[in-house]
Amino acid sequence: MYDTIIIGAGPAGLTAAIYGKNARKNILVLEKETYGGQILKADKIKNYPGFNEISGYEFATKLYNQVKELGCEINFEEVIEIKNNNEFKEIITKKNTYKTKSIIIATGAENRKLGLPNEDELLGKGISYCATCDGMLFKDKVVAITGGGNTAIDDALYLSNIVKKIYVIYRQKEFRIDSINLDKLKNKDNVEFILNSNITMVNGNKILESVTVKENDTNIEKVINLDGLFIAIGHIPVSGMCKNIVQTDDKGYIIAGEECKTNIDGIFVAGDIRVKGIRQLTTACSDGTVAMLNACKYLTQKKH
Ligand code: NAP
Repeated sequence: MYDTIIIGAGPAGLTAAIYGKNARKNILVLEKETYGGQILKADKIKNYPGFNEISGYEFATKLYNQVKELGCEINFEEVIEIKNNNEFKEIITKKNTYKTKSIIIATGAENRKLGLPNEDELLGKGISYCATCDGMLFKDKVVAITGGGNTAIDDALYLSNIVKKIYVIYRQKEFRIDSINLDKLKNKDNVEFILNSNITMVNGNKILESVTVKENDTNIEKVINLDGLFIAIGHIPVSGMCKNIVQTDDKGYIIAGEECKTNIDGIFVAGDIRVKGIRQLTTACSDGTVAMLNACKYLTQKKH
């Protein structure tokens, strides 16, 4: 029986693991893919205290190694269900069933798709959700990025230094973010903004050839020939495995206040998966801290 099982090895889950191991708890981290979560894909992190600049890969790897050096068990298994019994909780993965006294859900969010026919088929054949992973494949080529949030703008700037030309396709008439990188992007010669428009088709047989873009007010469509399309339109919460047990909002984010406590005693939530106003690396780590310290209090109070 574990004291706490943490689901998700992103910054929130791994921070929780550090606090749990320092409190001498018996901790297991379960991760379905790879450690680091979304931050693994960030080109440069410039807003984490203590680092002027660090790559997402290096940050995530340092954090993972820190947790491993504390002797924390990390298993790469996908959780499919959580059960709440009277005396303990059960976590069912595709390989095992684990018993634990408390749980921290830190599963984060995954890429939102445009939802267009052909999108899945052309993934890895011109379509990508990760500029830092795949950007170099498009050196001196013509690409587009769609989205208007920080990720789209940061990624567009990164790509503009690699590709011949990049179109930035955004559905609003104006950007709604305040970003130094947006100012930098506007000054680049190889960037063309297509605003107030949506991609309505991704075209190509075995490889992406073009996208069809429709302007919102006029409904006029045009086809843009492309080698690559980067989709950066936000994320959707990964809460399928626990929706039957913890309360979520209508989008699937888990409801909990600043104490990171869900509606179920002994189940806590941390990071982007929690209903919250600001989702940043720093706030994910903050949640991991709060969730684990409150899990420790729970374990003491319950005299487990
Ligand atoms: P986001 O802030 O949720 O932005 C998603 C963007 O995609 C929005 O511009 C949205 O348009 C657009 N969009 C959503 N659904 C769409 C659809 N179906 N079709 C077309 N466009 C669609 O996501 P994000 O940029 O990944 O950022 C996530 C969080 O991480 C944010 O809190 C962000 O501030 C943070 N972040 C921070 C940094 C940094 O500090 N440098 C870097 C990256 C991310 P609308 O504007 O019309 O809704």
